[in-house]
Amino acid sequence: MADYAPVERLAPNIASFANSYVRLPAAFYASTVPTTVPEPRLIKFNDALARELGLTPPASDLAAIFAGNLIPAGAEPLAMTYAGHQFGGFVPQLGDGRAILLGEVIDAQGQRRDIQLKGAGRTPFSRRGDGRAALGPVLREYLVSEAMHALGIPTTRALAAVTTGQQILREEGMVPGAVLTRVAASHVRVGTFQYFASRGDEMSLRQLADYVINRHYPQAKAAERPYLALLQLVATAQARLIAQWLHVGFIHGVMNTDNMAISGQTIDFGPCAFMDVFDPATVYSAIDHYGRYAYANQPRIANWNLARFAETMLPLIDERQNTAVSQASQVIEGFQAQFADFWLAGARAKLGLFTAEDGDAGLMNDLLEAMHKNQADFTLTFRALNGDARSHFNDPSAFDAWAINWRARCSREPQSPSERSVKMQAANPAFIPRNHRVEQALQAAIQHADYSLFEELLLVLANPYQDQPEFARYATPPELGERVLHTFCGT
Ligand code: AMP
Ligand code: MG
Repeated sequence: MADYAPVERLAPNIASFANSYVRLPAAFYASTVPTTVPEPRLIKFNDALARELGLTPPASDLAAIFAGNLIPAGAEPLAMTYAGHQFGGFVPQLGDGRAILLGEVIDAQGQRRDIQLKGAGRTPFSRRGDGRAALGPVLREYLVSEAMHALGIPTTRALAAVTTGQQILREEGMVPGAVLTRVAASHVRVGTFQYFASRGDEMSLRQLADYVINRHYPQAKAAERPYLALLQLVATAQARLIAQWLHVGFIHGVMNTDNMAISGQTIDFGPCAFMDVFDPATVYSAIDHYGRYAYANQPRIANWNLARFAETMLPLIDERQNTAVSQASQVIEGFQAQFADFWLAGARAKLGLFTAEDGDAGLMNDLLEAMHKNQADFTLTFRALNGDARSHFNDPSAFDAWAINWRARCSREPQSPSERSVKMQAANPAFIPRNHRVEQALQAAIQHADYSLFEELLLVLANPYQDQPEFARYATPPELGERVLHTFCGT
């Protein structure tokens, strides 16, 4: 029990907390209680996820609990310590400046999950920040993380969103404050390792690595070199993840090392967005001036982040530095090939291919190049590959020329067109959180407290691989006047 939470703020039992991070040494976190807010109001509660987590909060307390006003029995709130490279520059101390981990629960599948409030007030790591989150970014993270989950991509989840009744100051002026409750396999990041490595604290580093192995990668224990195995497992998880991002047109926007989860889940949905027209250089984030985190740079950036992770692990991998470096380098140098394998497997699924031929990567790249030249919508083109895809190309004959090769390739497989079609429908979503739709939903909520668009979008995005003709308008790209070219962190 959190003995530092005043008695009047204790909520009844809502979950069986099974906290483990708080048992790590003091250097790993700072015990911090959420700061109360004047008027918590529930926007959204994710009942299905709550059931999965075994949570049973009384409806009357939802707003107060997920605003941080009431602290559930068994929670031991804390802010995690971490460092990180932000846009390539190392910051030795970041930490949760506005996120507070309530604790952990074991879900219905036996998996340990973090329950964290984001925007719950200042912590010892807040620096000059107010510890708060604005309504817009909270709704964006809710929508996009749940959409990612429905797309079948590893991600943190959204459990609840509440408004606080407070206005907070952001670049655009005073905006409504909100709190997002996020659920993660864990919140350990590359930056968590960097924090201890940069201080030369090898004992904590080893404790962290052991914690992560126990929690996420127990198979590493059986390896000859468990810490090298951990590095490899994390690299594999990231290679798989980034390939999945590329295949739905996702651009994370802030792939700093503190935003790369060791678990392999997508984490920290700031200025993220999905692209409409295919262009590998696409950048939405208003602060990414040099396109460091552009769509097609993401595999390279993941590789760079993993190299930073590898550096922290060197003393654990082998006491002889040369040996450690050469072992770790092999993993880092193997990343691009591993990513390429995941990407190619995903490409085959998108193209409806059941078998493997040498020319498949070329076939996919030819299509992407034609899409780029002809400003074809990424999602619509793939969804309609065996339909009217050509209509999405400025010059439809560019698609026709490519399709001759694709059909020839398909004809060398025994599967029927309907089998192929089923495979493609399961790999090519009809619905993604289109940026202009997300923005419309956010603006209605911010300006008019109207959550109907948010609710509707959430509903559509829960079944991205189904046609849902009644929601066809959510499948189409923005009209010229609807385009949203920039996204903001809002922090
Ligand atoms: P992010 O860009 O969301 O990954 O955040 C980077 C760092 O800034 C993290 O350490 C955050 O906790 C911190 N941070 C972001 N927004 C705020 C805020 N409003 N108040 C305090 N800290 C913040
Ligand atoms: Mg972050």
